Amino acid sequence: MKPRRTRKIKIGSLSIGGDSPIAVQSMTATQTKNIPATSEQIRILEDAGADIIRIAIDDERDVECLKTIRKGTRSILSVDLQENYRLAPKVAPLVDKIRYNPGHLYHLEKDKTIREKVEFIVNAARENDCAIRIGVNCGSVDPDYKARFPDDSIQAMVTCAIDHCQFLDEMGFENYCVSLKDSDASKVIEANKRFSEARPDVPLHLGVTEAGMPPEGIIKTRIAFEQLVSAGIGDTIRVSLTLPNEEKGQEISVGREILEDINHGRFRSVPENFMDTLNIIACPSCSRVENDKFVELAQEVRRISKYAEQYKLTIAVMGCRVNGPGETDDADLGLWCGPVSVNLKQGPKLLGSFTYDEILEKVKKEMDRIISERFGSLPINVT
Ligand code: SF4
Repeated sequence: MKPRRTRKIKIGSLSIGGDSPIAVQSMTATQTKNIPATSEQIRILEDAGADIIRIAIDDERDVECLKTIRKGTRSILSVDLQENYRLAPKVAPLVDKIRYNPGHLYHLEKDKTIREKVEFIVNAARENDCAIRIGVNCGSVDPDYKARFPDDSIQAMVTCAIDHCQFLDEMGFENYCVSLKDSDASKVIEANKRFSEARPDVPLHLGVTEAGMPPEGIIKTRIAFEQLVSAGIGDTIRVSLTLPNEEKGQEISVGREILEDINHGRFRSVPENFMDTLNIIACPSCSRVENDKFVELAQEVRRISKYAEQYKLTIAVMGCRVNGPGETDDADLGLWCGPVSVNLKQGPKLLGSFTYDEILEKVKKEMDRIISERFGSLPINVT
């Protein structure tokens, strides 16, 4: 294994980067407003040995609930600001790290520059001794970077991350790390390699976003981590799996198992055509998930699409409107959940909204149509 060359940063009492052990983290999937459920989720992740636990915050009420949640745990907490970056000064005193997504800064307060918005977050972090993660995500890349690199989505992500690092450097803020996530393991590998080449000093958090359900989700993640960690890239990891809330501890145990295997040179071979067949990507769910039926829906989509396993198709199942619309754009069929209906898309085109009772039949029909248009026939074992 190549040694890691990143600088050390501090997240509460934890150090990451340099020769620090690779930290394993996860995220609560409960509504942050549901304090007992979120506290229980934190307990499950603590029992599983999480080094960092991330919580999503969308509004002032979430911040109020976070105050109570914070009192009940000594864990290192990270907060996900997503679109509401103005909450940074309110959450920073309660947590050890703030994650912001550069792609989400674009939409809010268009009269302000991105740099001004970043400075606002940096000031909140600095005043409260918080670390920052610049979290770039394939499904929500800043539109300016998408326009600059229309044929290279990886470079759009990497350049955006590098520019944000430059902002923080210019502001004299060093306590930060970066993540570059995609649902395609090969893109995660390439993006992190390119970034690490350009900024070998910046600690990296690794993850394959929307990896989906075990076992496929674990295999996709393992592919990326094996390549990166063995090359000395990666200071923290998260295995994003679509699992019922009570089983979320698996994200930690699986992460540790993968790291242990890499450490001992145990690399699992992956069949050559692993990603050339049906690929179901699904978000791991979080407090923004719009309907409790999400995990069951993702499992049902996998069940009803089994008949088409030999076809190279991607189906994306996302839990909410925050990331769902963007992160289903590249899928052959994309589903993103609303509170009472599920939106079904083919690539960026909306096919319609359907109730949770109607959606599976509709998915099946659309799969049949796409397979017959693209491959000329329906699978023989169609049910
Ligand atoms: S798609 Fe929505 S519900 Fe799923 S993990 Fe992302 S933000 Fe959470």
